[in-house]
Amino acid sequence: MRIEYFIIFIYIILTFSIQDRVRADDILQLYGSVNPRDYLTGRFNPSKHELFGALSDLGIPTNKSRQYLRREAAEALQNMYAAFRREHPWIPFGVRSSARNFYDQKQIWEGKWSGKIPVMGKRLNRIIKDPLKRAREIMKYSSMPGVSRHHWGTDFDLEVLTNTYYESGEGRLLYQWLAKNSRRYGFCQPYTFGRKNGYCEERWHWSYYPLAKHFLKGWNSLYKKDPAAFSEKGLFPGSSAAGHLAPLYMNAISHDCE
Ligand SMILES: [Zn+2]
Repeated sequence: MRIEYFIIFIYIILTFSIQDRVRADDILQLYGSVNPRDYLTGRFNPSKHELFGALSDLGIPTNKSRQYLRREAAEALQNMYAAFRREHPWIPFGVRSSARNFYDQKQIWEGKWSGKIPVMGKRLNRIIKDPLKRAREIMKYSSMPGVSRHHWGTDFDLEVLTNTYYESGEGRLLYQWLAKNSRRYGFCQPYTFGRKNGYCEERWHWSYYPLAKHFLKGWNSLYKKDPAAFSEKGLFPGSSAAGHLAPLYMNAISHDCE
């Protein structure tokens, strides 16, 4: 009888240690040397991360010389770009912004909050005094620091940041091509027209979902464990008023990206 208990005991120990190792391998593959919490909230430098690559090294046109994405996403984008070029040799295709960390996002946020960066031609500090309302206005098109898919190295913005550009001419051809073909390369448009919550439509923002879907899951469990960390006072202007909206905006994405 005793020996049977012993065998069961050893079996349980082995099963759990193998599972733990599998989980550790998964974590290493997903996050590399940065701990998941810092990775998911963008508290690291993409240019120094061993799993990131520069787009210019792969021949992808960018407006800044060093734009970074996760290598898998960058290679998928390289393939997608090549396919687009074969069909449309002359239509502009450029990446304006890709991986942005917490501090990059904080700069954008603070600029819009303080009125230094006008939002649709308006200085928000002058016209919206209520912190929650001002945050919601910014969040039509920009995320709070720590809540951006751009932190993960899976998402990029095309050169032109207005939806109307993609309604006619070259912009329309580019958007239609992406809408039809991007899925084949692992990309989706998270912020489509007609969603009930979250950011407005962004025809310029595309996401590499084979990786992003794991990061979204990770981000959600991180938020669940410690929601207070996202609305800490002083984290960024308006954090204590708007931090609780983080999961709503993070998860209001198109079904294509889920
Ligand atoms: Zn974007």
